Amino acid sequence: MEKGWNGLPYYSISDRYKNVFGAKVYKIPVAVVDDCPNRLGLKGMQTCSFCDVWGSAARSEAFDLPLTGQIHKYRAHIKEKFKASQFLVYFQAYTNSFAKIADLEKNFEEALACGDDISGFVIGTRPDCLSLSLFKLWQKYHELKYVSVELGLQSFFDDDLEFFRRGHKNAESLHALKRIKELTSVDLGIHLIFGSPFETDERVKQSALICNDLPITNVKLHNLHVLKNTALEPLYHKSEFTPISLEIYSRRVQIFLENLRPDIAIHRLSAFSSRFDELVAPSWTSNKMGTHQAIIDHLRRESSYQSRYYQPKTDNEALEIQKMAHQGLPKARPESSLNLL
Ligand code: SF4
Repeated sequence: MEKGWNGLPYYSISDRYKNVFGAKVYKIPVAVVDDCPNRLGLKGMQTCSFCDVWGSAARSEAFDLPLTGQIHKYRAHIKEKFKASQFLVYFQAYTNSFAKIADLEKNFEEALACGDDISGFVIGTRPDCLSLSLFKLWQKYHELKYVSVELGLQSFFDDDLEFFRRGHKNAESLHALKRIKELTSVDLGIHLIFGSPFETDERVKQSALICNDLPITNVKLHNLHVLKNTALEPLYHKSEFTPISLEIYSRRVQIFLENLRPDIAIHRLSAFSSRFDELVAPSWTSNKMGTHQAIIDHLRRESSYQSRYYQPKTDNEALEIQKMAHQGLPKARPESSLNLL
């Protein structure tokens, strides 16, 4: 068996959940809001350039059901498929703080009433849609169960944020993380997108170094892809935007991971377009497992692993990295049989 972080060259979110809960925990994605400040055009905002009509979430037919129905339907499916016994309800689509506090609270109560196997919530939102009452609400439920908040920062660089049409700047992102950390003890994660036209290898390294100084425990990585009916689509057709190849994306993931703290867990290595008819480019993003495997193969060929170049700040960090090296790095595999580049 290959060694490392459970056979992977990085610390995965499922390993982190095992450390937090002592067991494997599965996420149940649900949709309870159907809008966000960008889509409504508040304060002159525009829909993010990459975002489709589904609010950047994997679409499930269960989303048409009330919350309880969504939880029951998805839970039954993953219980049967993975023999799962613990779940986190994942409020993913759109901006899950863009609603009345009373409605958000009602949703949390409804989710918890679905059974003792609901271990907590994961809440996706953005850095400029927060309030003190929201922090109080999150903290209240974090004291009852587990609450993790994922902020869609997407980039630490203002030119990227402008290109993505996020409507907030990096300073707001960093301030939001600081405030959440000061006023709550929820688990904090961020989302980043690689592949903007301004991106360089050096910037990706900088992004990892910035993450290392943030109060976060997890990161979700996306590649910038073009979907139909998004602002990126016409730019792509006019050759004003070209998505990066899987080869370049894999190298950027490598650089990011090699400079990242060992205790920051990674949700996934790339985005995946589940709605094939909506994907414009690049085609490699439609092959979920193939893309994941191609990135892993790339990391193995480069004998690469998370924290390879990270300068440990504590003895524990140094030990964790040493353990990786002493256990033996994951072995390099021959070129992937999937020709996805
Ligand atoms: S990515 Fe999020 S914030 Fe941006 S338009 Fe889509 S739902 Fe709104």
